[in-house]
Parts: sequence; structure tokens; C-alpha cells
Amino acid sequence: MAKRDYYEVLGVDKSASQDDIKKAYRKLAVKYHPDRNPGDKSAEEKFKEATEAYEVLSDDKKRPLYDQYGFAGVDGMDQGGAQYSHAYQDFSDLFGGAGGGFSDIFDSIFGGGFGGSRSRSRGGPVTGASLRYDLHIGFKEAVYGTSTDIHFRHNETCEACHGSGGAAGSSKKTCTTCNGTGQIRQGNGFFTIQQTCPKCGGKGTTIDKPCPSCRGSGIQEKSKMMSLKIPAGTDNGKRIVIPGQGDVGENGGPAGDLVVVIHVDAHTLFERSGQDLYCAVPISMTQAALGCDIEIESLNGKKVLIKIPAGTSNGKLLRVRGEGVPSTSGLKNGDLYVKIMVQIPQHLSSKQRDLLKSFMDIENPTENPKLMPLSQLER
Ligand SMILES: [Zn+2]
Ligand SMILES: [Zn+2]
Repeated sequence: MAKRDYYEVLGVDKSASQDDIKKAYRKLAVKYHPDRNPGDKSAEEKFKEATEAYEVLSDDKKRPLYDQYGFAGVDGMDQGGAQYSHAYQDFSDLFGGAGGGFSDIFDSIFGGGFGGSRSRSRGGPVTGASLRYDLHIGFKEAVYGTSTDIHFRHNETCEACHGSGGAAGSSKKTCTTCNGTGQIRQGNGFFTIQQTCPKCGGKGTTIDKPCPSCRGSGIQEKSKMMSLKIPAGTDNGKRIVIPGQGDVGENGGPAGDLVVVIHVDAHTLFERSGQDLYCAVPISMTQAALGCDIEIESLNGKKVLIKIPAGTSNGKLLRVRGEGVPSTSGLKNGDLYVKIMVQIPQHLSSKQRDLLKSFMDIENPTENPKLMPLSQLER
């Protein structure tokens, strides 16, 4: 299964404060806690997922690494028992007012191999890590769609040894450090910690002549190039999942996914809200008062005629149907909204001043204007 982005898991913004993150995690932890959902596997998975996300995002060192490099930035930082230690420390703090019980339950989860699919289970298939790729595209490309080449690196099965990790003619031996269990115990008997064997990395076996290409790991980092189609209507923050293009799995497990996170650059003239586009156009006060036709260029360079009705106020939004973001679902396109900015002349010629003065004489303006609600201003 593809790994979800940590921010998405907690349902918070990238700019969320530590307080927001703590609150979001607390909510999820209370909801999905295994003790409240006995026998519910999916709740347990959600609880683990949330805890993993919290463990990274609440850590001042890990969060920037995750923001910059994605899962690859924090993977491997928490090998060998250190996993979740931070969340554990914070737990009493988090649930300080929620009554006891939680920490006990947490202990039991810890004891029960909380690491889940990310820890090495010796011999069993393990899904490869999902990788995150941050792709920046132009505003127009996102609206109308584009295709682009992406270059990334991921782990593949070593070609030289086909993943066995052994050079030609080598053989596997039971690891002497852990006697083939893949785990070692450290401590004084009263307090022992079980750790992944550092010699064999949890495999339980060692190779007498390691493969020179991969130094015995069976895995090779490779650079890849793929061409990626960005569909029309793609918005900022969209994720495109390319199945199987993450890191290779272990022991026959499936490869992880490559998750492309789209970042759309801002446009100098247009803004976007969902399927609609927004821009602004200046007109003169006489054009606004008398009405006129103007021609503007839409985002894709198309000439669009806009009828400005007589008596158009400053700030009025005029809608051009169908000139927004093309629909991805085959329904109707979004609209283009043009905000009218009425320009008041700064410098008048004497003829203009005279004409405006005579206009003012017959305009008969209210001597003392009455207040009106702010909300009516932009109509
Ligand atoms: Zn190899
Ligand atoms: Zn070992």
C-alpha cells in the first residue's frame, strides 16, 4: 500500500504549528486507539500511521528533513528500537488530562512490535519504501496539462547478484553474532533491549564473499527517467502516485510507489480558486459610467470580448463562462472572473476639468453622503 503523506495523515497544513500537530494527533489517537477498537485491524493501522506521522512532524530535527526530502529524509533515522521514542516521551503530556490507561496500552503496543511493516521481519516479504518527488510546474501548464520528464533515484534489485548479495560461488552462513535469529539482546538481564543484529542486518545469515556491485546488500541505487503526464486541471498539492517506482521490496515484497507532489508556480496576472480563474482589468471612469466593450487575453492567449455594462461600479466581478480551468471530469469548465478596476484620472487637462465641472453642476450629488455597509462596496 502506498504511504500517505504525514501532513495528510494528521489532516493538518504544511504550516501547522506544533500545537496544531499535537491536537490533530491526539484526536486521531483517541479515535483509533486499539483499546477503543478491539479487533479492528484498520483502526490499528490508522493509529500506527498517525503515530508515525506525529513522531516525525513533532520532531524539530525530522520535520524539516521530511519537508525537504520526504520519506527518504526520515527513513532509516529510527532504526533499531529508537522508533517512536519521541512520541512515547510526549505521550503523558498529550494525554495528561485524559485519564490513565493510555500509557499502559502504549507499552503493550511497544512490546508487540509496534514498528509494523517498516521493521524487518526476518524472511517475510517487506514492501519497499515509497518515495516522494516534488515537482514544480508553471501555472498555465497546471491548468491546461503538460508532460514532463522526471529524474529520480530509487533502489532496485542488484543486477549482478539478482538480489542474493553474494558474489559468484559464495555461500550463505548462519550469522554468528545472532545465531541466525536476526536479533540481539543487550542489557543486564533485568532490563534488556532487543535490537536488529548489526552484523547481518536482521537477515540471520551472512555471505562469505559479498557481491562487489552491491557490497552484499542485494540492492543497487539507480537513477531513472520517466515521462510524466500532468492532466489538465491539476491543482497545487495534487499527488500523482506511480505504483511500483519506489524502492524495491525485500524478500519478494512489492516495490513501494513513487509519489509525485505537484507544486504550481504563481502567475503574475491570474489567480486560481478551484476551477475558476481570476484576473483584474483597469477601465476609465467614463467607460464604467457609459459602458463599453473591451478585449482581454485569457490565460491561453485567446482573445475574449467583455461587455462592460453602463454604470459598472469599481470592484465588480464580471464572469466569462467556460474560460476557467478545463474540466477533468467531462463536466463543464470553470469560469473566468474579471474584476473591474475603475481608474480615476490623476491629471486632468483644462478641457477635461471644465467638462467634469459642468457634469458636476448637473449631477446634483448628495451634500452629505450617508454611511453604507462595507459589504456593498464591491458590488
Ligand atoms: Zn549484488
Ligand atoms: Zn546476525
